[in-house]
Amino acid sequence: MNMNCPHCGNEAERNTTTFTVDLGEVLIVIRNVPCYQCEHCGETMYEPKVYQKIETIVNAAKQLKQEVSIVDYRNVA
Ligand SMILES: [Zn+2]
Repeated sequence: MNMNCPHCGNEAERNTTTFTVDLGEVLIVIRNVPCYQCEHCGETMYEPKVYQKIETIVNAAKQLKQEVSIVDYRNVA
């Protein structure tokens, strides 16, 4: 599967990244998230199924009400 960058149109490369979301009360860090990254402008994109998984992880982490949750994507995928 190839993805093109929505900003500059260059082809994005497969990579992994650390996804961080700060919800105020809780900070959620998800490591080793598969993504596509544009080498030209640095834009990071996620496949829809990956994005759904991120949402699931974020919702589960919110329930924990821990100040910081660090999750490894590979352990929940
Ligand atoms: Zn780009």
